[in-house]
Amino acid sequence: MGTDSLLTPLSEMQREVVRLARDFAAAEILPHAERWDREAYFEPSIIRRLGALGFLGMLIPERYDGMGLDAVTYLLALEEIAAADASTAVLMSVHNSLPTQMILRWGSDEQRERWLRPMARGELLGAFALSEPEAGSDASALACQAVRDGSDWVLTGTKAWVTNGNTAGVIVAMARTDEPGERRGAKGISAFIVTPDLPGFRVGKKEDKLGLRSSPTVQLAFDELRLPGDRLLGAEGRGFIYAMQSLDHGRLGIAAQATGIARAALEHATAYAAERRQFGEPIREFQAIQFKLADMATRVASARALLHAAAAAKDRGEAVTPFSSMAKLQASETAMWVTTQAVQVFGGYGYVKEYPVERLFRDAKVTEIYEGTSEVQRIVIARSLYA
Ligand SMILES: Cc1cc2nc3c(=O)[nH]c(=O)nc-3n(C[C@H](O)[C@H](O)[C@H](O)COP(=O)(O)OP(=O)(O)OC[C@H]3O[C@@H](n4cnc5c(N)ncnc54)[C@H](O)[C@@H]3O)c2cc1C
Repeated sequence: MGTDSLLTPLSEMQREVVRLARDFAAAEILPHAERWDREAYFEPSIIRRLGALGFLGMLIPERYDGMGLDAVTYLLALEEIAAADASTAVLMSVHNSLPTQMILRWGSDEQRERWLRPMARGELLGAFALSEPEAGSDASALACQAVRDGSDWVLTGTKAWVTNGNTAGVIVAMARTDEPGERRGAKGISAFIVTPDLPGFRVGKKEDKLGLRSSPTVQLAFDELRLPGDRLLGAEGRGFIYAMQSLDHGRLGIAAQATGIARAALEHATAYAAERRQFGEPIREFQAIQFKLADMATRVASARALLHAAAAAKDRGEAVTPFSSMAKLQASETAMWVTTQAVQVFGGYGYVKEYPVERLFRDAKVTEIYEGTSEVQRIVIARSLYA
């Protein structure tokens, strides 16, 4: 079972990108993934190496040193990386889908020139800071405040759960620009380009997580962080809309990550069922195991098919908000279900760290939580039914 879409055959270029991602993952990620997970270790050189391959500029146009690829091709590569290590995949997904896309879409010419080239080359990693300790699913309730001071902006507040917040060179952060006495809800939020070199920037607590253990997730504190005026991204008061529109793309990335995790679990379970013998024969001879593997394969194929259909619609320039939510919902619940079945196929060996399905099972869970929980995806989908 490969990554071939059921919908359209892959082009020669797409096959080449998949090969590149698969070879890189097999040589430089997979051999270390178990140790990185066990030690909750982030390998910094991965940024430069992904950048050298072009994998941190997959959606950035060639004129800014990116690869200028379509969403389908990018997501095929992301699935390959995720099948080896979901932590590396989330780095790639956040960077490619959120901060770089926000700067590309809403940045000024000067901002694009200044930030996109180093981001595409892997010299600057991007992060996305929307969530706060008290503002998760209800992100428009965020409290981080930006106040104008002459031509500068001064930011004060705490951002939570920032993937790569301690290693990123560019953080697109959402903050309130409305007056405390005159709150304007989502319309009072703007997007800013924050860099860690500025006084007032502080990395806070690093989360000790169930899964994705080699992906650093941190709090960021802005203590009267002074930003030059040219760090406002796009129009004042539009930051929340920008963040939501970018999440359409981000959720496709998480769906590809989840599909990669599920596929890896299926592959491990299939191989193990052929090796493991009980009652004098390989367990793959038992119909209960065969049916489990068949259901796992069917769900992985359907998650990938929906993902590619949504991504192809995005590439055609169509509005994909509910389809992106459907793809993320379907793929993340598939990842959780398939990894649970894989643990079952491994029996007791599925429950220990010596075998890879235990890590895949832990890594799968977060795909049902971040970039909008499964409940939030259902809200988005249900709302579209009445639009
Ligand atoms: C590993 C990791 C990495 C992350 N990376 C980033 C990042 O890089 N940048 C960033 O900005 N954020 C990031 N997040 C934050 C993530 O997006 C939030 O955790 C997520 O949006 C949920 O918010 P919350 O944790 O506050 O949960 P809550 O919003 O408090 O939700 C708790 C529960 O209530 C449910 N719920 C909430 N509202 C409703 C409703 N209206 N109807 C029904 N059910 C509801 C939720 O579905 C959930 O089950 C990350 C999170 C994790 C765990």
